[in-house]
Amino acid sequence: MQLSRRNLLITSLSAAALAGTPLRAQGAALSVVATTGMIGDAARRVGGDLVEVTALMGPGIDPHSYRQTRTDIQAAMRADVVLWHGLYLEAQMEEFLLKLDERGTAVPVGESVPRDRRIAHEDYADKFDPHVWMVPELWAYVVNGVRDALSDAAPDHADQFAANAAAYLKELDALASYAHRVLETVPSSARVLLSAHDAFGYFGETYDFEVVGIQGISTESEAGLNRIRTLADMLVERGIGAVFVETSVSDRNVRALIEGAAAQGHEVKIGGELFSDAMGAPGTYTGTYIGMIDHNVTTIAQALGGEVPDRGMQGKLAEGS
Ligand code: ZN
Repeated sequence: MQLSRRNLLITSLSAAALAGTPLRAQGAALSVVATTGMIGDAARRVGGDLVEVTALMGPGIDPHSYRQTRTDIQAAMRADVVLWHGLYLEAQMEEFLLKLDERGTAVPVGESVPRDRRIAHEDYADKFDPHVWMVPELWAYVVNGVRDALSDAAPDHADQFAANAAAYLKELDALASYAHRVLETVPSSARVLLSAHDAFGYFGETYDFEVVGIQGISTESEAGLNRIRTLADMLVERGIGAVFVETSVSDRNVRALIEGAAAQGHEVKIGGELFSDAMGAPGTYTGTYIGMIDHNVTTIAQALGGEVPDRGMQGKLAEGS
């Protein structure tokens, strides 16, 4: 049987593993490949001009179903460090990433979140909800994980990485305070966050929201008609007026739900589009981790009757977003 191109690439990856880690030229920036945009952003903030960062997953990309391309494989092979999330987020890339781990150049930084702060998976022992970026206090652990991974790769620059991380963590503190302050203004009866998939478990736990995803923790499980019907009934019974779509998941189920409620005479609006598993466009405010979370927190609070400042925490959110 002929080997597929992908298998050949993985085989050549194993051969490269024997050859050891690539050597970085003296004075050259550390080349970093990150899987998600959020991890890429953390690496840029911690690494500053000492790193050159490529994030494999752009805006609107669903990390649960994303598979590495040939270009991704080549970039990851050449990188000094590969930062991935772990916690089974990159389900389709797991095999490839574990091979890189063996090679000693890849680090699953999402697993820097301590076990006792993780939400256990309902169906599998020893598996956890990967969506830890939804809460800045948890993301701070990951930022420290990124700092440690970069410092291991370039020990000469450890002091600079530590200083950059400390400064960035202060910004995350401000973001955390903003999130608590604004979300507390949402009336308790309206604290139901219904969206396309279960990305908001940590969010719900931290800010006291009931969280309902039409699909499960991964987008790979399909929502059945029964599920849609049950949720439409719930919207009607509880008088919930807004549900949310996500940039990285099809809005088909959310729209079916709104139609189901409308058929029973209950009007539900789309409260906004949330950045659940991917950030906004590079070069924009929501293309940064802070902008992404500011947008989500501000959009959710606004749609569910909370009090929010105009254009979010830093006044940088686009009008009407
Ligand atoms: Zn997800």
